[in-house]
Amino acid sequence: MVRASTIIFKSMQDIRKMQDKSKKDPTGGHFDYGRQGTSTTHVLSQILKEMEECYHVFLTPTGFGSVFLSIFSIVRPGDEIIVADPTYSPTRILTQDFLKEFNVKSVFYDPHDLKTLEKAITKKTKLIFVENPGSNTFDFQDLGKIVSIAKRNKIFSVIDNTWGTPYFLKPIKLGFDMSIVSATKYYSGHSDVMGGSLAVNKKVFKQVDKANKITGLRLGPDDAYLITRGLRTLDVRLDKHEKSAKQVAEFLSNYKNIKLLYPHKKDSFNFRMWKKYYSGASGLMGLKIKSKNKNSVIKFVNSLKLFGYGYSWGGFESLALYQDKREQGNREYLKLAKDEHLVRLHIGLEDPKDLIDDLKKSLKYIK
Ligand SMILES: *Cc1c(COP(=O)(O)O)cnc(C)c1O
Repeated sequence: MVRASTIIFKSMQDIRKMQDKSKKDPTGGHFDYGRQGTSTTHVLSQILKEMEECYHVFLTPTGFGSVFLSIFSIVRPGDEIIVADPTYSPTRILTQDFLKEFNVKSVFYDPHDLKTLEKAITKKTKLIFVENPGSNTFDFQDLGKIVSIAKRNKIFSVIDNTWGTPYFLKPIKLGFDMSIVSATKYYSGHSDVMGGSLAVNKKVFKQVDKANKITGLRLGPDDAYLITRGLRTLDVRLDKHEKSAKQVAEFLSNYKNIKLLYPHKKDSFNFRMWKKYYSGASGLMGLKIKSKNKNSVIKFVNSLKLFGYGYSWGGFESLALYQDKREQGNREYLKLAKDEHLVRLHIGLEDPKDLIDDLKKSLKYIK
């Protein structure tokens, strides 16, 4: 574990030698000051680079730092960006509201109708921001088609791959220029550290590197160490999350008032798009519950004993949230009837039989 602000060299010549090395080999972990990182952050970046099969991985103090970095590396005043409608609500606020203050226009597209994406393209379009599956409604998109639209129109593309991680989907190999993962979630796995990663291809490396240096976004070495430790069990944890989530989904699919927002039902568009691109599914799912009584749905959530209530996910524990307007954000293409409610479940590492039993007892409150 290497912590640093100042790195002490033996002489001025040694400082210059390190700076020359860093210039020649900018991804090689040659640092002359702690803000650029230490060997501890470099190790994490190298592991993630292998997983992502990409040119380089930048580390940020939170997942949202990577969202910010991806956009501010590429977009300049006067540009336009096209964003998936079901995007993480802070990303929505950043693109729809904050970017406006920099004279950048954001347009949103329907994840299941890519004609709305193609129609939104203008000469000013610089970046397509995808999140897959979409936040809260878990819409799986035709990623290959999005990449080809971006390439054909010479537009940069970025995807938020926090749900699948490169264990299940490798976006840079698919042709995306950048890929975001919130390391706070599955990488850490224990809900006790925050971090983010931004994987890039060679084409955008220089632009992102410049913005990364200027913004001072830096993951601390202690957090990098915890995330590296979490990665040692990423595969066994994700396999277990997947297995348990499938069992829970199987159980819930027996309830006629619940529509599962999880790649579960074989004849659905979502399932086909998931199957086409992913090698597995993680533990986060949505339920669309039909009920004329909102409070009874909230009572169902509140009655769960083994699920915690709180933000974030991807850790060892199961979590539940009733998704109000507050979580959904201001969406254009969300068709939710008055008697339809969204609940999000994260299926943790507990015994799935216990989770199913807990759900069974609480589901009876839904009227
Ligand atoms: C949590 C999350 C983020 C932000 O990550 P933080 O580490 O909480 O900043 C970004 N995108 C998605 C899809 C997320 O779920």
